[in-house]
Amino acid sequence: MSPDELLALDAEHVWHPYGPMPGRVESLLVTEASGVRLKLADGRELVDGMSSWWAAIHGYRHPVLDAALTAQAAKMSHVMFGGLTHEPAITLARTLVDLTPEGLAHVFLADSGSVSVEVAIKMCLQYWQSVGRGAKRRLMTWRGGYHGDTFHPMSVCDPDGGMHSLWRGTLPEQLFVPEPPAGFDTEPDQAYLDVLAAAIENHADELAAVIVEPVVQGAGGMRFHHPGYLRALRELTEVHGVLLIFDEIATGFGRTGRLFAAEHAGVTPDVLCLGKALTGGYLTMAAALCTAEVAAGISRGEVPVLAHGPTFMGNPLSAAVANASLGLLANGGWAADVARIERGLLAALEPARDLGSVVDVRVLGAIGVIQLDHPVDMATATRVVTEHGVWLRPFRDLIYTMPPYISTDEDVSVIAEAMLAAAAKA
Ligand SMILES: *Cc1c(COP(=O)(O)O)cnc(C)c1O
Repeated sequence: MSPDELLALDAEHVWHPYGPMPGRVESLLVTEASGVRLKLADGRELVDGMSSWWAAIHGYRHPVLDAALTAQAAKMSHVMFGGLTHEPAITLARTLVDLTPEGLAHVFLADSGSVSVEVAIKMCLQYWQSVGRGAKRRLMTWRGGYHGDTFHPMSVCDPDGGMHSLWRGTLPEQLFVPEPPAGFDTEPDQAYLDVLAAAIENHADELAAVIVEPVVQGAGGMRFHHPGYLRALRELTEVHGVLLIFDEIATGFGRTGRLFAAEHAGVTPDVLCLGKALTGGYLTMAAALCTAEVAAGISRGEVPVLAHGPTFMGNPLSAAVANASLGLLANGGWAADVARIERGLLAALEPARDLGSVVDVRVLGAIGVIQLDHPVDMATATRVVTEHGVWLRPFRDLIYTMPPYISTDEDVSVIAEAMLAAAAKA
């Protein structure tokens, strides 16, 4: 089939993320990807500034990841995880326990980020049920978050961004506090800390857990906050008997400059969600890790098991690639790469501040954001960045990048130039 025929069928039959049906926005047809480059059917090559949504941290067709995948496929692609187990999943769980903050001991391998959030929530609700506090089944979060698109995760997404008005009566009504004050380097605001303290104290009897994205709120608005708020949440939840879930599906594996964003705060949550870059962007896999205390609580209950078991749980191909990706991170070279990308983005995005329509420019780790004073015109933005040889996917008033860690200085400056051009025109 010709590219045009494929695109016509795509528009007619294929749902895309947050897409209308029939499709109105024409997608770009990708035929190959290697390194940081996407190759399109019309011969163009684009530098990928999105890492396929935070995931492809080592770039595409990485020889080590390719080899791990092929070697595993030659042994077995999948077996059920009920009653059977295998080395790739065992090694992965063990490595995740080693790498993540001290105290997380048990690993549930899920098949997508949203499902890992479902499992994390289930762990917390079931924990309280098991220890005889079944009334504790509400969640608290701050506004501006994103935790996935299935129903329970949706209930803790930002109520406006997550379109909660559409789902009134369907979604559980969770407890929201205002979004955390902006700025990774801005010292915590006492008035806001008081808001957190009052909410947790007043609702302790009904709260199962507080769930937040640590340090960076991603798809909810690309906002950064001071790690002090996370330390406060840890103390408050401990004092008032509430569990704490960190959703590091976007921030995990080095993106913010530390292997996990929780390290900026030096705290361990009771439950931690990982996904996206877990397999280096190759295959879908996520994880929910919990402490021994959470697991022991669940095991004391009337139903002493965690009642969840995805068909493709622990998929060996995903686990083998995840192990290879963690192996690439193990030599520590990622830290210098992320710091180098951070310096490149800081310098190259700075001129955006002079554009009249730009309200903020912010960089943390390998994340660069230009915020406009109006919603981005997607069609114009996409045309402008692709003309600059770059792939970006702005949303709302945000033009942002989180490039693969292997991006060269040259790649970073090409991405930044495209962002500036889009900010000027879209
Ligand atoms: C992407 C994301 C999710 C959802 O993960 P999926 O794999 O898309 O289901 C949840 N939380 C955060 C913070 C994310 O960035």
